[in-house]
Formats: sequence, structure tokens, C-alpha cells
Amino acid sequence: MTFQSIPKVELHLHLEGAADPDFVRQIATEKKIDVSGVFDETGSYKYKDFAEFLSVYEGATKALKTPEDYARLTRSVLENCAENGVIYAEAFLSPDFMGQCDMVAWREYLAATIEAAGAAERDLGITMRGIVTCVRHFGPDQARISAKCAAEVAGDWVVGFGMGGAENAHSAVDFAYAFDIAREAGLRLTSHAGEWCGATEVADTLRDLRVERIGHGVQSIDDPKLIEQIVEQGIVLEVCPGSNVALGVVPNWASHPIERLRAAGVKVTVSTDDPPFFHTTMTHEFEMLNRTFDWGDAEFSQVNHTAIDAAFCDADTRANIKARLD
Ligand SMILES: [Zn+2]
Repeated sequence: MTFQSIPKVELHLHLEGAADPDFVRQIATEKKIDVSGVFDETGSYKYKDFAEFLSVYEGATKALKTPEDYARLTRSVLENCAENGVIYAEAFLSPDFMGQCDMVAWREYLAATIEAAGAAERDLGITMRGIVTCVRHFGPDQARISAKCAAEVAGDWVVGFGMGGAENAHSAVDFAYAFDIAREAGLRLTSHAGEWCGATEVADTLRDLRVERIGHGVQSIDDPKLIEQIVEQGIVLEVCPGSNVALGVVPNWASHPIERLRAAGVKVTVSTDDPPFFHTTMTHEFEMLNRTFDWGDAEFSQVNHTAIDAAFCDADTRANIKARLD
């Protein structure tokens, strides 16, 4: 079995962030929208740091203007995932980008996305579920609106609620109300924390938002007490090593804490975050984990099983995916 053909489960993938530059250029050309500012001379996404990454990300989404665009985006992203052996993916969806939080538009964008995901499941054998995310730097009021959009569509396909964006904007507790709305609608919860800000941000997020998974969470490594708590509570980390290296959260692969976290008993999983932005794929992540930490079949099987156990899908879907992992 090659790194590419190992069946994989991915829990942390931003739908727009997974858009190929070629795909964005194609859509933009058709609509005569100028997105040249988001690309460098080689045609890749252009950013120097995390702040610029966020603005380029938002710039690229400007080309995506209709439910049909999101259907095509979903197809394109799932083709890339399936090509890298991913059989189950949870993708982050933002009502802020999909219909600008207008409830009627949001439902149309979502319906088109779900239909495209269903077709990809039949054609490519990859299952997708959605996690609605609010954008932290858009603020708590906007997050509440996103949470209401999420609550309206909670069910078999939209299975979770989360938060991404700039981690240093506001405090976790400011978003408690939005997370309460989602929790009451039956959605499972995750939030980015401990990517840029320290272990304290992870502790605050666990306490104030009561999430069961943390996006990244790698800075937890600095706080042994927090690690103990994470292990005890069975909190799952959606770790994206290639993203962390590309954005400079850690200086290189060798210094990435994923193996230290795993060795400490933390439930770690592996994802790509925004793969074309970070020049990565799930195949590349597995290859680098093998090269850097000597991970083999046992470790890959462990992270895949941790991921499907922590997936927000229903029991039947989980059982089907598990059967394909073994
Ligand atoms: Zn992310």
C-alpha cells in the first residue's frame, strides 16, 4: 500500500480553502471577476503571513457567487480528496460566504453543496459531512447569526458547528451564546484554538465553549496540566502539521509536536486545513509523518480510527467507514 492509497479520514478541511487556484481562476474568468491579486507569478495563492492568508482566502471566495459555484467547488474538492485516499471528510462551511447569512440563500447554497456531495459519494466513494463555522474576527454578533443558520439545517448532513478565523480576536467566552444555540440544535462542537495563541486559549475554549474537538490545539504541548485534562476528557485534536509548517506556527516538520502529543496519550488526527494554500495533500501529510517521525501502518491506522470515532456523523455512516478502514 502506498501513502496515497491508504484509506484516510479527514476532519479539518475548509471548503473554500480547499479550492484549487485553477478552479478559482476558471470561475473568476467565466464571471469576469478580477482575482489576480490573490495569486503570485507562479499561479499559487499569494500571502506572507496569517493575516494576509485570511485576506487572500476571503478574496478567493469572491469568485464563488452562486449555489452552482459551490456545487462545482464541492465536486472539485472531493475529487482531490478522493485522489488522495480520503474516504470520509468533514468540511467547514461558512454561511458568511454562502449567501452572506441570508437564510433563504444559505439554504440554496447548502442544498447545492449537499447534492454535489451525494453525487461524489456515488461516483468517487467519498463521504462528506458539513460543519458550519463562524468566523472569529467577524465578531460574536455575526457568530450568533451563523449559529442560527447552522441550527436551521442541523441534521444528518450538517452535523457540527465550529469557529475559525483570527484566534486573537475577542475571547472564547464571547462566543458562548453562539455555541449554546448550536448545542441546543443538537450539533456537535469544535473550535480552532491553540494554533497561534497559547495553551491558555485551548483551556478557555474547552471551559467556555464546551467543545469535544479542538482545531489544531498544538500549543497545548506547553502545558502538562492541560495535556492531562485533554487526555482525561478524551478531547480530540484536529492536527494539521503541513498547515502549521507553511504558516510558520512551527519552524519545520521535525519540531512539530504531533508525535509528542500522540505519545502523551492525546487523541490526535491528521488533516490538511486549506491544502492548496499550504501546498499539501493528505498523501503528502502521511509521507512527511513517515519521513519525520517514522510513522507506519500502526500509527496511520490509529489516527484514522481516532478520526472516525470522533467524526460527527451518525452510527451507520461511522460503521460503514470503519469497515472500509480495516
Ligand atoms: Zn482551520
